[in-house]
Amino acid sequence: MSDKSRIKYEPADGVGVITIDSPPVNALGPGMRESIIEALARGNADPSVQAFVLIGAGRNFIAGADIRQFGKTRSINSSVSAAALDASAKPVVAAISGYALGGGLEHALACHYRIAAPGAKVGLPEVTLGLVPGGGGTQRLTRLIGPRAAMDIILSGRHVGADEALRLGILDQVTDQPDLRAAAIHYARSIAAVRPVPRARDKQNWAVQDGEPAVFESMRASIARKARHLPAPSRAIECVEAAVRQSFEDGLKVEQQAFADLENTPEAKALRYAFFAEREAAKIPGIESGLAAAPVESAAVVGAGTMGSGIAIAFADAAIPVKVLESSPEALERGRLRIRDTYAARVKRGSLTQDSMDQRMARIQFVPGYEDIADCDAVIEAVFERMDVKHQVFGKLDAVMKPGALLLTNSSALDIDQIASATGRPGDVAGTHFFAPANVMKLCEVVRGERTAVATLQRAMKMGRAMGKVCAIAGSCDGFIANRSRAPMMTEMMLMLEEGATPRQIDKVMTDFGYPMGPFAVNDISGLDVSYEGRKRRALANPEYRKLHVPDRLVEMGRKGQKTGAGWYRYEKGDRTPHPDDVVAQVVAAVAKEFGIEQRTFSDEEILHRVLFASINEACKILEDGKAYRASDIDVMWLNGFGFPRHRGGLMYWADTIGASGVHRQISDWARRYGKRWIPSRLLADVAASKGNLRELQGAQGAGA
Ligand code: NAD
Repeated sequence: MSDKSRIKYEPADGVGVITIDSPPVNALGPGMRESIIEALARGNADPSVQAFVLIGAGRNFIAGADIRQFGKTRSINSSVSAAALDASAKPVVAAISGYALGGGLEHALACHYRIAAPGAKVGLPEVTLGLVPGGGGTQRLTRLIGPRAAMDIILSGRHVGADEALRLGILDQVTDQPDLRAAAIHYARSIAAVRPVPRARDKQNWAVQDGEPAVFESMRASIARKARHLPAPSRAIECVEAAVRQSFEDGLKVEQQAFADLENTPEAKALRYAFFAEREAAKIPGIESGLAAAPVESAAVVGAGTMGSGIAIAFADAAIPVKVLESSPEALERGRLRIRDTYAARVKRGSLTQDSMDQRMARIQFVPGYEDIADCDAVIEAVFERMDVKHQVFGKLDAVMKPGALLLTNSSALDIDQIASATGRPGDVAGTHFFAPANVMKLCEVVRGERTAVATLQRAMKMGRAMGKVCAIAGSCDGFIANRSRAPMMTEMMLMLEEGATPRQIDKVMTDFGYPMGPFAVNDISGLDVSYEGRKRRALANPEYRKLHVPDRLVEMGRKGQKTGAGWYRYEKGDRTPHPDDVVAQVVAAVAKEFGIEQRTFSDEEILHRVLFASINEACKILEDGKAYRASDIDVMWLNGFGFPRHRGGLMYWADTIGASGVHRQISDWARRYGKRWIPSRLLADVAASKGNLRELQGAQGAGA
């Protein structure tokens, strides 16, 4: 389908205005690049036109190329339309509002001048999709702002605000005028006679030392860890280096080759999948988009422990004022200090200025009583994980909170409906399950109880997004989706220890796979005690529950992780480096002896498959139970909650790279060897038999709760 009509051309005051009008974000779809070229040809042939303006209709300039078109044959790519802008005999002014990302910024860079509204954001996020910018972006940006700044922007994929872009030399002007189109036409008239037309391709805006080989070598060294799994960052450096050393044309060829080589790599495909999975997760099947939900403009957090303080910080970081309530003045003061110290550490690291810290602290109000939070749009409860305490808190919230306020719980596993039963307004109650540390981890698992209103879910998701989180919905069940699907992985890790694997070996397998840290090292940070109570509760409720003796004994010995100086590893005072510890080996040996467990060696592949297949099987059961809307939501949770390597797409996407039948066969074997806990899910068996894809599965009944 061609989107030619999405480019409009009209002369105004001697300026040819080319408007991209492709809602919602002006992504460059099929035919649009051709239409830009046609419009330029018309204007260049029209003697009454002296210059051009390229502008987006609506809030954005061009948010990027249409990602659905990557990996497919295109009639022309952005490099061709960018070249046409660049070559225009009459100057072109890019007028940027909202986002100019990827292909959007590449088109703007090919224009001869760039002016922007103060809120504009520019960036080249292609590397985050496993690609390099393919429309001349690496060549023009480098020539315009120098290789150091260009590599920073291209390798991070970050959004650069208008002020910074002006300072760097990406923009020529930031205008306060409310009518950007009029300002751009005015600007275009003022530069219409300038000759030669200034082109980024002709510039060389860098100091000699910034182009030295050492600059590129140190950049390569800084991405070496990432580059183990991802080819795109090193290819991007190669392109920038080509911009410094070679002619514009030759540099473009290097860029085109890198783009072509990367476009269909498994990593790029997985990253594109992850991008769309996150978009999809925002949707509730069969329900109109929740964009119209009222924003949460004031929030409260009850309980300022590990999670509550992180959540309060996340609100303050998002410029949402938040009130914090505790069980006693002492606990409130401890919460305040915890929040202050977290910010102070950021200031010390240099990632936050003292001014910003002061502004953010000022958004957090520490209050003594429930009546102080009554007016807030939303309240998140983050008190102890005990139903009686949750009931007490929700009873009080019900009594004071204004009608329509969101009543949310950060519980990791408790039944939302039971929590909601403490209120007379269960429709307003939902889970918003954040992950530790809540101000850093991206996932917010929005939990839907039987009686949660759809509007509550939509508003909670909107709140989560405003906090910079990626949200996905889970039905209420023990552990919801994220922790429930991960629990079997944790179980198999512990059981493999009993059978002869070591924490270090398992951690290494997982970091080689692409996790930033091994699961045992992570557990030492979050605390071994966090899951201890949950295991006791499950063992009481289910006589067949397989007890995990090793972590239980470590906790009972006081080894709770880094906070106690030892857990799965031993830590030197003031140092976070994990050292293997004989004590753990002794505990493991004692457990193995006591239960007569045979010791053996494990291959890396067996370890990887055993932990991840256990979780894939559980994920299928979650879908079977109708607790997830779609398999891709589970992937979104693993990517954003647990650090699953993004270039592997997610748990279910990765499973498909092995194939459902291979996964099913292995799980069936393990069911014969290890018993009941490995019985394959019926859904997995079906997908294996039909040779389908696990990542495309929808939850039973499609409803999810
Ligand atoms: P925590 O023990 O660090 O903090 C709980 C806080 O709640 C304490 O400061 C306590 O003083 C306060 N509190 C207790 N009863 C209260 C009451 N009646 N009124 C007001 N405040 C009260 O616990 P946490 O780790 O922050 O966990 C809080 C919740 O978040 C739990 O439901 C937990 O399951 C969940 N959660 C924890 C993690 C994690 O990794 N720690 C992750 C996700 C979710």
